[in-house]
Amino acid sequence: MTFALLRTAQRALRGLVFKLVLVCLAGVAPGWAVAQTGAVTVQWLGQSAMKITSPGGKVIVIDPWLTSNPKTPAEFKKLEALGKVDLILLTHAHFDHIADAPALSAMHKAPVYAPAGLADSFATLGVMPVEMAPRFNKGGVVFPFGPEAGIKIIATHAEHSSEFRWKNPDTGKDEMRLGGEPMGYIVELENGFRIYHMGDTGIFGDMKLIGELYKPDLILIPIGSHFVMPPADAAYATRELLKPKFAIPMHYGTNALLRGTPKEYMDALGASTTKVLALEPGAVARF
Ligand SMILES: [Zn+2]
Repeated sequence: MTFALLRTAQRALRGLVFKLVLVCLAGVAPGWAVAQTGAVTVQWLGQSAMKITSPGGKVIVIDPWLTSNPKTPAEFKKLEALGKVDLILLTHAHFDHIADAPALSAMHKAPVYAPAGLADSFATLGVMPVEMAPRFNKGGVVFPFGPEAGIKIIATHAEHSSEFRWKNPDTGKDEMRLGGEPMGYIVELENGFRIYHMGDTGIFGDMKLIGELYKPDLILIPIGSHFVMPPADAAYATRELLKPKFAIPMHYGTNALLRGTPKEYMDALGASTTKVLALEPGAVARF
């Protein structure tokens, strides 16, 4: 009985602390996504779509699936609502990660960095102009704004697949094309803040290596299960392998298969030095 009460009190306290952290770190006003000088902001737009604004005001969008994403708030289903976009990163070729990338790239003349095989398919199939789809691969480091700009992107391994389903305009039929290898990204910003967008992935041992080498401040971690890690594996990866200061769960709740929840993730994480920010779609966390 006492133990049960203690557990209830612990849960209530954890809930309160969590809400306080959210209030301190995450705003909810969509307009807040506009950079405040010196701050890093991260806006979750549903599934794995993230808008990162750097301290210098560069806007990096990862895995933009917005116009048909059921979790994207209505006001962001119009691509214009994102404001300017300087760079787009794609983790792999699946529709729920690439859907709006060609249109966003054309709208802003923003390059799309993607796994090499996917960039090749984009260029050879005419989905995007070749100069807007630079090739890139795992372990590689790129400076998309030049080395002096202070923004560095490193492609990491991800344990997933990357088939590219392409509708042939001549036949109207879907065809399967090369989509390269699935990846995650370490995004290091001008002030040294490091964000690890893990892409879609199952757990793998080299997350420990990634944690030791790159020491991410913030991880964007898939928790939905079925196609990606379940909450328990995501919690293990967070606590034992990556040890970031902050974690934002993603890739859950979009459909019935992606059934993992932030509560399950936080319960599995238990006492931890990592602060979990379970954002509502459209909300912005500021660091
Ligand atoms: Zn996915």
